[in-house]
Amino acid sequence: MINFSNLSINPATAQIIRTAVEANRLPHAVILEGGSESDRLTLARRLAQALLCRGEAPPCGECADCRKVLRGFHPDLTECLAQPGDTESLKVDSIRQIRADASIYPNEANRRVFLLHNMQLSNEAAQNALLKILEEPPVYVRFLLTCPSATALLPTILSRACVYNLGQQIETRSDEANEAIHETARQIARALGAPNEYDLMAVTGAFEKDYALLPPVLTQLQLTVRDALSVKSGAGQLPLLSACSGEAAALARRFTVRQLLEFAAIATEMQAAVNGNANRNLLITRLCSRLSAAAGK
Ligand SMILES: [Zn+2]
Repeated sequence: MINFSNLSINPATAQIIRTAVEANRLPHAVILEGGSESDRLTLARRLAQALLCRGEAPPCGECADCRKVLRGFHPDLTECLAQPGDTESLKVDSIRQIRADASIYPNEANRRVFLLHNMQLSNEAAQNALLKILEEPPVYVRFLLTCPSATALLPTILSRACVYNLGQQIETRSDEANEAIHETARQIARALGAPNEYDLMAVTGAFEKDYALLPPVLTQLQLTVRDALSVKSGAGQLPLLSACSGEAAALARRFTVRQLLEFAAIATEMQAAVNGNANRNLLITRLCSRLSAAAGK
């Protein structure tokens, strides 16, 4: 069974991954983004173990395959660990080599796994070379890619893979980025109280241009709604943690507890959908229509 110990990973993502592993249904190409670099690599190795393990409830951690992955030399696992400044890994030649290796049947396990760490360091030619095999991989081949943000990869690669977001690293964001997140969350909160749905459509439409903004804004929206619920419950004397305290107070005045709970549920559900790599435009449209309906528009 896969474990997430010592990993900082958002619980919704962990649950999605656990379900996929238990059902033996990990997609043939997985992209791990968000979180820290070491967590992405550790999780990728645990997934490699799950894919190669031939024990009960993979990864069992005890079979020969699991132990070989842990020791770092399983014949059916190829790790390509690029580091910033590394000029050779993940170049078009090494991807061509991977393509050649992928055509060789696994030596020991039932699968052949390629772990490409720091894919954001690969250039367009390398990504296009990788795309060729992602489009028609041999049935036993699995890819595990890591990168800080999947937006660094070609859309054609993204369309062939499943993106799992480990979570935002808030400390690495600039003040400017944080302000953009807070401002967008404030705009959504104000739009919820607007008489029609046009304001909400305009604000959520901005995610079509900047999709990376959506997950942290959803988190901020959850905090704002939580603050509104705390105001509503009379616990308003507690310090409001959200950067949107004015909007939280306005939400508390304008909406019922049931509506506020519904907003929070929608934000949580959409967060899980983002992590599950749902279709972006559909998700943005659904976010807008669900919030509108919950707000009684
Ligand atoms: Zn095992």
